[in-house]
Amino acid sequence: MNINNIINKINALEIEKRSFINGEYVNSIDMNIINKVSPVDGRDLSGLSACNQGDVNIAVAAAKSSFESKIWCNQSPQEKKQVLYRLADLMLLHHEELALLDTLETGRAFKNYYNDSVPKAIEALRYFAECIDKYYDHAIPPRADAFASITREPLGVVALIMPWNDPMVVSMWKLAPALLMGNSTIVKPAEQSSFSILLVARLAKEAGIPDGVFNVVTGFGETAGKALALHLDISGIFFTGSSEVGKKILQYSGQSNMKKVGLECGGKSPFIVSEKCTDLPKTAKVLAKNMFYNQGQICSAPSRAIVANEIKDKFVELLIRELENYIPNDPFNIESEVGCVVSKEQQHKIQTYIELGIQSGAKKYSSSTAKNMHPNSSYVLPTIFVQENNHSILAQEEIFGPVLLVIGSNSIQESVSIANDSKYGLAASIWSNDSDEAYWVSRQLQAGIVHINSYGDDDNSVPFGGIKESGIGKDKSIYAFDEYSYLKTTWIHYEPINDN
Ligand code: ADP
Repeated sequence: MNINNIINKINALEIEKRSFINGEYVNSIDMNIINKVSPVDGRDLSGLSACNQGDVNIAVAAAKSSFESKIWCNQSPQEKKQVLYRLADLMLLHHEELALLDTLETGRAFKNYYNDSVPKAIEALRYFAECIDKYYDHAIPPRADAFASITREPLGVVALIMPWNDPMVVSMWKLAPALLMGNSTIVKPAEQSSFSILLVARLAKEAGIPDGVFNVVTGFGETAGKALALHLDISGIFFTGSSEVGKKILQYSGQSNMKKVGLECGGKSPFIVSEKCTDLPKTAKVLAKNMFYNQGQICSAPSRAIVANEIKDKFVELLIRELENYIPNDPFNIESEVGCVVSKEQQHKIQTYIELGIQSGAKKYSSSTAKNMHPNSSYVLPTIFVQENNHSILAQEEIFGPVLLVIGSNSIQESVSIANDSKYGLAASIWSNDSDEAYWVSRQLQAGIVHINSYGDDDNSVPFGGIKESGIGKDKSIYAFDEYSYLKTTWIHYEPINDN
């Protein structure tokens, strides 16, 4: 596939911009739309339905009625599994189209979506489908006159509020376990990245998901998202996005019906390099890849490198060399590893942080200029700041862009306390060839995911999610089923028969 090919295919895309409710695409009641442009070249992408309370009410009523009819939740695990397998096959058939839609809307490199993200989303769907008929409920040991079972029951109607940085992967992490647990679902994609999930909605119907069980309501967070989170007929709200909005979701739940809340929010993940790390070039490579891939727009990006002062200068030198591997390049070019940031607003926000870093007097290093970018594109050059301490705004706030901070440390104990001096607790990493030290550090780190001598290595079988202001609950793994269900205890009394 060459660049002209990709551009021709993008130009030929038929993009669905209406919501998908009760098995069909529908306009919003008042026909409001969202105006926006592609971060790749500024082309007009306006027209996405901007749903409001009335549209949300219609979607919730459809989801509720499908749930009450039991048309989906009463299907056996084997039947649900076959439906999701069919959906995975259909997504594979539309693999290229899904990758093109996400590239066009978010500006991330097509190569990332085509080779990595979309296949990963399909894999996640298959993983959950495969698990469902091997996943058992519990029975507690019987007494002479009683027996108890503990079963997982669907919540009912659940809303899934999505971010824009990896639309297909995060959708499948939530949608697959929510559906397999028997819930009826309403997805609210981010307004920046809604096209691919709207296509998936049609494929889901084709795969056999009954009408009303999988709805997509598009629109702004403050209107459509908020209306879902406050809705009295929704029993669970699962969100990936900023901690700021995550806190609002908790409040909406409290203000309405105490619906179950799952939050996967921000991060400022520490990457500790000990004096006892023996392979600094490899360590710098892994750090740069995880930090600058997707222009740093990944919640678990290792944005604070905490490096032993003895090796800091050498390590920074190695990192600076890595910058050239992450120069933004035309996202439609199949050779590009790194594309754009999602919007002009995001670009501006990141650049404001970079300005703050410069004003603070921290040493700054950036890659050379971007390649082959359209004059209307939005991107940020990968940047490293070397700072004295962990107290600055740059060290404490999530930037969600390609900005890495390096902070020196005098001891491994100090590294741990810098690492934990954050309101976030998503991911963390320790690089050391002393196994006692590495293990000890891993136990001290306040994070949902700790990597020892690795970063970002991933598998569907392990949970993903943070603590502190990084969130509540888990995506991925068998534990995800717990999120989209509640535990019911059934105590069964029986009269033992006297066998004398
Ligand atoms: P980011 O800061 O990364 O753009 P946000 O946290 O603002 O991410 O958005 C993540 C998702 O949450 C999006 O789908 C967005 O529309 C939605 N959202 C934003 N504000 C609200 C809100 N007040 N209530 C519900 N959903 C919201």
